[in-house]
Formats: sequence, C-alpha cells, structure tokens
Amino acid sequence: MSKADYYELLGVPRNASTEEIKKAYRKMAIKYHPDKNPGDKLAEEKFKQVSEAYDVLSDGQKRSAYDHYGHDAFDGRSSSGANTHRSGRHGFNDPFDIFREAFGGSGSIFGDLFGGISRQNTAQQEGADLRYDLEISLREAFTGVEKMLHYERHIICPNCNGSGAEKDSKPITCPTCHGNGVLTMSQGFFSMRQTCPDCQGRGMKVTHPCAMCQGGGAVIDSTKAKIKIPPGVEHGVKLRLGGFGEAGICGGKSGDLFVVVLIKPDKQFEREGDHLHCNLSVPFTLAALGGEINIKTIDGEAVLQIPAGTQAHAVLRMRGYGMPNFSIGKRGDQLVHIEIEVPKKLTAEQRAKLEAFAISLDENDKSWFSKIRDNFK
Ligand SMILES: [Zn+2]
Ligand SMILES: [Zn+2]
Repeated sequence: MSKADYYELLGVPRNASTEEIKKAYRKMAIKYHPDKNPGDKLAEEKFKQVSEAYDVLSDGQKRSAYDHYGHDAFDGRSSSGANTHRSGRHGFNDPFDIFREAFGGSGSIFGDLFGGISRQNTAQQEGADLRYDLEISLREAFTGVEKMLHYERHIICPNCNGSGAEKDSKPITCPTCHGNGVLTMSQGFFSMRQTCPDCQGRGMKVTHPCAMCQGGGAVIDSTKAKIKIPPGVEHGVKLRLGGFGEAGICGGKSGDLFVVVLIKPDKQFEREGDHLHCNLSVPFTLAALGGEINIKTIDGEAVLQIPAGTQAHAVLRMRGYGMPNFSIGKRGDQLVHIEIEVPKKLTAEQRAKLEAFAISLDENDKSWFSKIRDNFK
C-alpha cells in the first residue's frame, strides 16, 4: 500500500513556500481535528496524515530529502501502511505546537482557533444597540433639556438566568456542533465557518424550555433612562447612552442606546444652523417712517428698530438672538423677514389724508405711484 503524496495531502504545489504549507496545514488540522469529528475514524486518519506531511514539508532538510527520495527517505517500513508509529513525532501528538511556533510561541492562535471562537459563540454575546427617536421642541433645543426615556429592551430572563432551561433541567451540549457553536465546512482549499443552525451558535440546547422566556433566555422589560440634551442641540444628532441597549448573553456587555434628537418644526421660527428666521408684519406707516416695534424672540421679547423706508421682504438682523453655540461660545442671530401691512379699511378722514399724500407724491416724484395710476386710466 503506497502512501499518499505529502504535497497532495496538504493540497499545495510542489514549489509551495513554507508559509503556504503552514497555512494549508492549519486549515486541514482544523477541519480534521478529532475534537471536531468525534468518533470519525476517517477524519482521525486524515488528521494524522496531514500532520505527518506537515512534519516533513515544514522542515527544510526533511523536505529536500523527501523531494529527492520520496517516502523512502525516512522510513523503509512505510510500505507496511502502519502510520501509528509516527505518533510520537513532533507536530503529531501536539499539533498545536505549530501554532505556537507560528505566532511567537504565545500559543494564542491555539486559543483563538479552538477555544476563543467557540467560547465567544457559545457563551458571551454582546447585546444589540437600540435606537430611540426623541422629539423635542425648538425651545427645548434652545435651553437644553433633561428627558426621561421609557422604552422596552430585552434583558436576561430572571427565571432561568439566561440559560433558557427550566429550573430543574440543564441545557445539553448541542449534538450538531458539539458545543462549538460553529460548523466548519471545507471546500477544497477554503474552509468556511457558519453559526450552528441547531443551537443558533450557543453550543447548548435546551430540552425543557423555560416557561418565562420560552427557551430564548431573554425577556422584554420596560425600562427608563434619563438623558441630558445640551442647549443648542442640532436636529438629527445622535447621543449615546452606553450600556442602555439590549442585555448581553452570559455576561456579555449590554448594547448601547442611541438617542436620535429630532426637533419639531416651530410655528414661529425656522432654524438655519445657529440662526433663527422669522416673519414680521410691519404697518406700512412704520416701514415708511421708521420706529420701534416689539418682537418675540426664542427666549422672550425684544425691541426691534425699523429703519425709515424699510421695504417689503427686507431682512433685519438681530445679532445674538439665535441659538446658542458652545463650540464658538456665542449665539447666532435672529433674522427678521419684513412684511408690509396695508390697512384693509380706511375712515373717510384717513382716506382723504392718504389721497392728499398720494397727490404730494405725484407732484414730487413721478416714479412708481404715477406709473401705477397711469395703468388704471
Ligand atoms: Zn427563561
Ligand atoms: Zn450547535
């Protein structure tokens, strides 16, 4: 019985680099590792073979000898088909030495490959983040505000402490993935990991599901959290409340709660960055003569000076009456869009005076008023 070619066993070309050989072996070792394939004699045999192949091909001298003389270079008895005698060799009994070698002797890759990942999947899982849309008024955005958020999130089931199993029963190791939580599937050179569909990656299965959580290990809980909205907050800003998201599984960290601040449209003001726009109706006499008028601001009232001869659609700027901006340490402006108010009804006296005024305009200034009048003739 002839032995399989070492290069073919590892699936690498004859001119493969040491690095490629290492990589190929690592994949094979994971795929055929006895812990992953309990009771599978074929896998066990394959595992021994690839270990042996790696033992030779990873060593410069042995590899060169193998390239020249084949299997005969090492063992005259190889034709007997008995491979078990090699079990004492380096890289066979303890195939993880290779990982320690490859990663500076720390052995960390061993933990990552055979312990870390499965532990991560079977036990600790971080809770998901949650989003909370919080509507506030423009005035609350101006002053800043503290809000109590009431929401629901998943927490660890208090009845089964998250195991999903009824009190008197214990979860069993998942028979599909043998507790790893992941299944490794190999296709040629590549191996892919998939969360075990049987246990959803927990590595454990519940035979008697907890009555409170139906075996899910989590229940919905009404909860609340206080949040401080800073003055001048912008629409759409996302604030994070660390640890207020879904609870983690088996001691995993809780997720975060992201609060998205939405500022409701205001009847009076339209915001543009730190500036606030508003409209103001001004009697046409005030616009023509100039004077003072009271105007509402975001935090009260102010007196606005209307210059004589103010036109419709003019924009008057009130510096420092806008939204606070702490990064530049001052407030934006209030921008007042002027509308001219014309009286709808006139008394006879007012009418006479206005007519006299119109005639005076006509005499002194042949511009707009006369043109309009001409149009009606
Ligand atoms: Zn439960
Ligand atoms: Zn499983």
